[in-house]
Amino acid sequence: MALYRPIPFVHHQLKKHLSLASLVVDATVGNGHDSEYIASLLGYRGQLFGFDIQEEAIAATKEKLEHALCRTTLYHESHANMFETLEAFAGRIDCVVFNLGFLPHHDEAITTLLPTTYSAILQSLCLLRKKGLLIIVAYPGHGAGKEEYNLLTQLFKDADTTAYYITSYAQVNDCKNPPVIYCIEKK
Ligand code: SAM
Repeated sequence: MALYRPIPFVHHQLKKHLSLASLVVDATVGNGHDSEYIASLLGYRGQLFGFDIQEEAIAATKEKLEHALCRTTLYHESHANMFETLEAFAGRIDCVVFNLGFLPHHDEAITTLLPTTYSAILQSLCLLRKKGLLIIVAYPGHGAGKEEYNLLTQLFKDADTTAYYITSYAQVNDCKNPPVIYCIEKK
């Protein structure tokens, strides 16, 4: 394949950006696939913080991180509490990742929602260091996801160009509402 598919694109960005000692937040750990990949890039001086509102997501991720070299801390709570929880690391976080929506093959009603997503994204921008990276995978193909996508599109379109450099990545020849990936670099 010549071009990255959505999640491989996210992982490619992570690999380029992270070092062994990076501090990373996975704001939606889900089944732990993204967390597992992030942890594989970090050494013993690195640290991964993970959030999810579903107990089974935290359990699945904990299992996947069992052999991680880096320090890992999982919070069974909403990412809307991210700043309060990680205040001690404000301005030092290298990367925050949101893979929005619901867990595939699980209750679709347990999904990320516009007000908390919006709040958590603003909080993550405060936690990031200069040159830090925020990555968001948005899914406009379902009701709540469409609302998030609309808000994010407007928010990032209007964002201060002196403070952030923002790109999006998506397949354009797919009529079935493909995921859209936003990458925000804090200047
Ligand atoms: N990154 C995951 C992986 O690699 O398997 C996939 C994440 S899944 C698409 C979205 C996750 O967001 C679900 O596990 C859901 O429980 C979680 N979620 C929904 N609302 C949340 C909130 N307010 N705070 C934290 N997690 C939330």
